[in-house]
Amino acid sequence: ERPVPSDIAVSRAQTPKNVKVIARELGISERELELYGAHKAKVNLDLLQRLGHRRDGKYVLVAGITPTPLGEGKSTTTMGLAQALGAHLGKIAFANVRQPSQGPTFGIKGGAAGGGYSQVIPMDEFNMHLTGDIHAITAANNLLAAAIETRMFHESTQKDKALYNRLVPRKNGTREFAPAMFRRLKKLGIDKTNPDDLTDGEIAKFARLDIDPDTITWRRVLDVNDRHLRQVTIGQAPSEKGHTRVTGFDISVASECMAVLALSNDLADMRERLGRMVIGSSRGGDPVTCDDIGAGGALTALMKDAIKPNLMQTLEGTPVFVHAGPFANISIGASSVIADRLALKLAGTEEDEVYEEKVGYVVTEAGFDFTMGGERFFNIKCRSSGLCPDVVVIVATVRALKVHGGGPEVTAGAALPEAYRTENVELLKAGCVNLAKHIQNAKYYGVPVVVVINRFVTDTEAEINCVREEAIKAGAEDAVEASHWSNGGLGAVELAKAVIASSQKPKNFRFLYEADLSIVEKMETIAKEMYGAAGIELSELAKSQVETYTRQGFGHLPVCIAKTQYSLSHDPNLKGAPTGFFVPIRDVRLSPGAGYLYAKAADIQTIPGLPTAPGYLNVDVNMETGEIQGLF
Ligand code: ADP
Repeated sequence: ERPVPSDIAVSRAQTPKNVKVIARELGISERELELYGAHKAKVNLDLLQRLGHRRDGKYVLVAGITPTPLGEGKSTTTMGLAQALGAHLGKIAFANVRQPSQGPTFGIKGGAAGGGYSQVIPMDEFNMHLTGDIHAITAANNLLAAAIETRMFHESTQKDKALYNRLVPRKNGTREFAPAMFRRLKKLGIDKTNPDDLTDGEIAKFARLDIDPDTITWRRVLDVNDRHLRQVTIGQAPSEKGHTRVTGFDISVASECMAVLALSNDLADMRERLGRMVIGSSRGGDPVTCDDIGAGGALTALMKDAIKPNLMQTLEGTPVFVHAGPFANISIGASSVIADRLALKLAGTEEDEVYEEKVGYVVTEAGFDFTMGGERFFNIKCRSSGLCPDVVVIVATVRALKVHGGGPEVTAGAALPEAYRTENVELLKAGCVNLAKHIQNAKYYGVPVVVVINRFVTDTEAEINCVREEAIKAGAEDAVEASHWSNGGLGAVELAKAVIASSQKPKNFRFLYEADLSIVEKMETIAKEMYGAAGIELSELAKSQVETYTRQGFGHLPVCIAKTQYSLSHDPNLKGAPTGFFVPIRDVRLSPGAGYLYAKAADIQTIPGLPTAPGYLNVDVNMETGEIQGLF
């Protein structure tokens, strides 16, 4: 076998098509395209209307088994499968992926471009600014943060009437409410358009948000792994007159604005979601929203281009939508609903076409393993979009299954222990309990499941056969090996055929839980049915948060549980398919704009740090060609 060069070398060796060509092949007109150079373009949402009558293409979700810290190849498989379907089997086939955060790019190897001969190109453009969507999210998030702080500052120094007169100033004798104020007036039930008509009581209610600083959950963000910003004290300049407050920064992709971008169905939906984000509570205990502050419109303005998916391509010239990248640790870890909807229409069929013959495929990924990423995909993303996958692909590797069978620890940057370099069917077979649990979990949703064994050079025939047998035994529709990392789309043709065949089988979709269960019941259901737990244990803090959010009317939201990705349980040391454990719920947070609650079952950092030898040490610009070098 020929050796596979580095990811950047493979990426550079291929000359990408002009993105206009990719668009033309998909039937996207130049009017519907906004070019960002030769290899990236935003696609206009008008397309959804133009193609609205089409029957959707097939929707394929790529998820994985419980991984090692090295990653088991979900992104690589997403690319390889799309390349196989598109470049080798003549289908329209999209790979829909997240935009990577710049934090990990310069920290510990991050990115989600895939690898080897299954990648998004140009890889450097993909991994850096792309078209600025993350920057737009940073701007929107931080505008709201500034608005909260300033509002509290102004409220603290002025009486109701004076505050109102400043909020709604008289200009040339007349005064008008700013457009953003009508949402708050409506919420308060004040049906008046002339600011002079408000009673003193109404003025007090309208002008004073009375935010309780201790309840503020809105933080600032930036897209750098700057761990020293995890906790900061703001307002230390003399001009803030002693109004200091302890707060902190998250990585931009952890912002609720990012989750809103990922889950919005269209521009109007994004506007509503941004407006209803809750930043904290008033001293009276009511939630205070972005629209109460009057910033919902401005945030939408900052994000109005970010809502358009970014068209790129794979190494084999097939289309890729790169759009949104909510932090898998505390959010859904999947790319956007809008990109999926657009791609499903572009891959869809006209009424007079024979569906199974003409239909195209949209392959997308859920971060982490199926049991976290896939569960969130179905119960949060699909619930919100109304879409449902036709097939789930579960990526398995021999090395990760050996870890679950009791093999020695695998760490990034260290040499792989012997057990992973030589045949050991017994160890592997013992570890297949992990694969079996993920297959059973995926089957719960009533969708066909295909297992793909992402082949490494050290894997033997006996090992591949073992995984295949165990997968079928556990109920997978099909189980195939694939070598797309070393052979590109050609290496995933068998997988593509299995996906096509399974996508034609009937599905019988159901959610794991109904949204109107109580918050605790929802968390319990996820922990017991998916993780294999005996139950959950709520901290005192979590109990009071659940009580508050239920009282405030948010009990109907689905729950995103944040926990380690290295075990089916909350404990990274429990490998295989553990049972009998209790999942500790430490902290429950509210993301009503995104449309879920999230519960922390671990101490999860919302802004990573940099290692001693960070990725940035390798990065530079070639002074002759002007190209970026050293990205992975
Ligand atoms: P995930 O999305 O599951 O985290 P990735 O697709 O990002 O995993 O792959 C993780 C790393 O492993 C990447 O560097 C990728 O190039 C590499 N990789 C993936 N599949 C293989 C394979 N079959 N052989 C060797 N390396 C692989």
